[in-house]
Amino acid sequence: MTANQGIKPVTCEVNEKGHLQIGGCDLVELADKYSTPLYVYDEQTIRTIAKEYKDAFKDYPNIKMLYAAKAFMTKAICKILSSEGFGFDVVSGGEIYTAYKAGVDMSSCLFNGNNKSVEELEMALNLGVGKISVDNFLELALLNQIAFSKGKKIDILLRITPGIECHTHEYIQTGHLDSKFGFDLSQVDEAIELILDEYENLNLIGLHAHIGSQIFETQIYYDEVGVILKEISRIREKFGLELHTINLGGGLGIKYTDSDVPPSVKEIAEKITSSVDYHSKKYNTGGISIFIEPGRSIVGTSGVTLYTVGSSKQVPNGKKYIAVDGGMADNPRPSLYQAVYTTQVANKPNAALSQTVTLAGRFCESGDILIKNVKMPDLEEGDVICVYDTGAYGYSMSSNYNRVLKPAAVLVNNGQSDIIINRESYEDLISCDMVPERLN
Ligand SMILES: *Cc1c(COP(=O)(O)O)cnc(C)c1O
Repeated sequence: MTANQGIKPVTCEVNEKGHLQIGGCDLVELADKYSTPLYVYDEQTIRTIAKEYKDAFKDYPNIKMLYAAKAFMTKAICKILSSEGFGFDVVSGGEIYTAYKAGVDMSSCLFNGNNKSVEELEMALNLGVGKISVDNFLELALLNQIAFSKGKKIDILLRITPGIECHTHEYIQTGHLDSKFGFDLSQVDEAIELILDEYENLNLIGLHAHIGSQIFETQIYYDEVGVILKEISRIREKFGLELHTINLGGGLGIKYTDSDVPPSVKEIAEKITSSVDYHSKKYNTGGISIFIEPGRSIVGTSGVTLYTVGSSKQVPNGKKYIAVDGGMADNPRPSLYQAVYTTQVANKPNAALSQTVTLAGRFCESGDILIKNVKMPDLEEGDVICVYDTGAYGYSMSSNYNRVLKPAAVLVNNGQSDIIINRESYEDLISCDMVPERLN
């Protein structure tokens, strides 16, 4: 079993007080010390999965692992994943800036995105971002112009749409044919002609695809490699251009509930490397360098969110709602993708499950429901609810809806807890507000 196949962080246990504990820290004490809502990240789970990735690919040394920073990015996370040997897949000026400020080796970064701005592309070149995955014709032209003006030649990959569908939520599918991302295979030749004939400041090194997220099917990766290597051999035949880099994107799923059965990192690695071996022989494409970009599977299981129980409502002959002090602003996934989570009560994890309730958020939307119809013990005001697997796409998608302050995040390890993101203050909240003189 690899860490993405468990619901809980690897260090999660019930301590002698009968409380949930992660990274040697009592969650009830953390809630007390830092207040709630609170994101808690287990350093050991992140390092465990990072090592599992490295271990799974140890027989294929020609691989680069890039952490897809959009899943959760702070300077501390950059430090942890850099120290585990990961590079970074970044998708905005903000992510580039964070990596830079965290001291990341910028040449290990790859810049992705379907509508990068001129400012962001300039920033990427100025700060030494190693590679850019170019998504479309406009970007080819812009990037060439920018690289020319700086007298640089930049390594690029072409993001392609491989025409592979995965069975995940439609909002997180990206590899199907009418996706907004990347060049259709029928447009690749035109892009290559432009690069070879006109765009002298672009150095095409390979192809990039990313099929979707929260993927449980291993065969998809096998097929993806086949499509890309076939394309690489076709490009060699037609243009005499040898491409050696294939970026397979991210997407490995994690276990949110008992009914989720994600594959292990090892199974994915075996599918990828066996497909590279098979298709390299078939298409005579040697020396392939593989990039992968896992995001969710690196940080998803490591993070939990703590909430405090507040009001409740029993609808006569209907649902029982239990409201907590957070919701869609700190975790939009339930309302965005109907995502389902597993929960326990941190101060009484072993109490008998006596009722079925709906955990409601505090935001002014009927859709702000954290978990529907979940079996819980008797609950009272002040109980601390732990929602598992909120480490990816929770904080990173959070908002200030209702002008509620964004929660803090703490990193736990060996009984120590450290803030990695401060809780916002009301001052922070209004720090960008301006009032035109004439309104005073
Ligand atoms: C989102 C994304 C990833 C990461 O996906 P996960 O499902 O979080 O692993 C990797 N590559 C690209 C291009 C992405 O858009």
